[in-house]
Amino acid sequence: MTQPHNYDFDYFVIGAGSGGVRSSRIAATLGAKVGIAEYKDIGGTCVNVGCVPKKIMAYAADYHGHFEDAKGYGWDVKAPKNLDWGTFITRKDAEIKRLNGIYDGLLEKAGVTYYSGHASLKDPHTIQIDNTVVTADKILIATGGTPRKDMIPGAEHTLTSDEIFHLKQQPEHILIIGGGYVAVEFAHIFHGMGSKVSLCYRGDLFLRGFDDDIRETLKEEMIKQGIDLHFNCDLAGVEKDQDTLLARMSSGKTVECDTILSAIGRVPNTQGLNLDEVGVDLCPNGQIKIGDNFQTSVPNIYALGDVANKVPLTPVATAEGQSLAYHLFADKQSADISYENIATAVFSQPPIATVGYSEHEAEGLGHEITVFKTRFRSMKYILAERDEKILMKLVVCKKTDKVLGVHMIGLDAPEIMQGFAVALNAGATKADFDRTIGIHPTSAEEFVTMK
Ligand code: NDP
Repeated sequence: MTQPHNYDFDYFVIGAGSGGVRSSRIAATLGAKVGIAEYKDIGGTCVNVGCVPKKIMAYAADYHGHFEDAKGYGWDVKAPKNLDWGTFITRKDAEIKRLNGIYDGLLEKAGVTYYSGHASLKDPHTIQIDNTVVTADKILIATGGTPRKDMIPGAEHTLTSDEIFHLKQQPEHILIIGGGYVAVEFAHIFHGMGSKVSLCYRGDLFLRGFDDDIRETLKEEMIKQGIDLHFNCDLAGVEKDQDTLLARMSSGKTVECDTILSAIGRVPNTQGLNLDEVGVDLCPNGQIKIGDNFQTSVPNIYALGDVANKVPLTPVATAEGQSLAYHLFADKQSADISYENIATAVFSQPPIATVGYSEHEAEGLGHEITVFKTRFRSMKYILAERDEKILMKLVVCKKTDKVLGVHMIGLDAPEIMQGFAVALNAGATKADFDRTIGIHPTSAEEFVTMK
């Protein structure tokens, strides 16, 4: 058997997304000889077809409201009718290229050897990247996921989030299928940019798993904005007639549009890795099964990020990648990270941010709770005459006084929530919130004055 010191690399990472890049970079700075392979653009989903271009598009969309709001403050502005789509896409793409370069530079500076190509495992210590074969002592699979495609008639006329960032033209009328993060975020993006938006979700109300008051508030706000919402229905088929798409819904309704975004979740990227042959076990949903320290069923092979059976969020993958590198190459005892109180945001309009349990979840877990809620209009929107509400909510354990959940929908919610995640991780009680002096005048201060 080959001895570890005879391998080409101490650590080889498959997939240069958020988790893979962080893990390889930290491992190399800790002195390991590290290689990484990627067959698409460096940076993975987040940088190329996820968080970053999505946030840029959301910023672009927000301007629509800013122009309208400015009039209420006396600015002599007319909200422009059109966004110059070509200019916007060119500038967005240039920014993504800049970030690709930064990622590339980070790996190079850390001394990680980069392979551009599709990697697969030949055996537990051998990786083939196109025509190149290398060996490694430890291997990390951080290949992420891909949007799921529904197999309905006419599915070829629908797009996923991988394509939606590269549209040649702005849609006039887009139909969005799904009720998760991607669906509601793109509803905001295209509505803000001036497209007509319809959204179709198979259940009663989108954002399953989020607090019910938050979900209801988003629905009300989207209806006020004129977004065409269809619940309890699914896309049954699509027909194309020149530039027009005719979407047939399971409810019997039809929607005529020019673009359909299918945002019905993601599947893990395990195909073509030869995992079966090497003995890496998968979960029934196709994710790689991992145990302690991100170890797969093959002891020297690890997996993390969206391809593994944990929490599919970029900052989680990054934290996992870093923790694993310290475990493997700096003698950190455990690589496992805490999945408690991970704050998350949805860049809808209004935006949502949340940490901890929803009211429903807390009750389901047997907690006796007190709920504190406040609903008001942001001071910014009073002169602007924007009819948009903020909802803030605290879920508190009656027995321990611990704050179990903090939820917000409204202006700046994602920026506000990070600090509350720290408070919840530190075990803050409602009394701790109450003795904290607010920052005045802000919306955030309401969280420390709720009675
Ligand atoms: P999600 O898993 O969040 O949502 C998928 C949606 O599609 C759900 O509403 C689901 O319904 C629905 N769905 C699933 N299968 C079908 C089907 N066969 N037919 C119709 N509808 C279906 O996936 P997204 O694609 O929105 O996002 C993927 C992941 O990316 C998220 O889980 C999140 O982790 C991450 N992400 C994070 C963001 C952020 O942090 N801001 C932004 C974007 C993505 P149901 O609820 O009924 O199952």
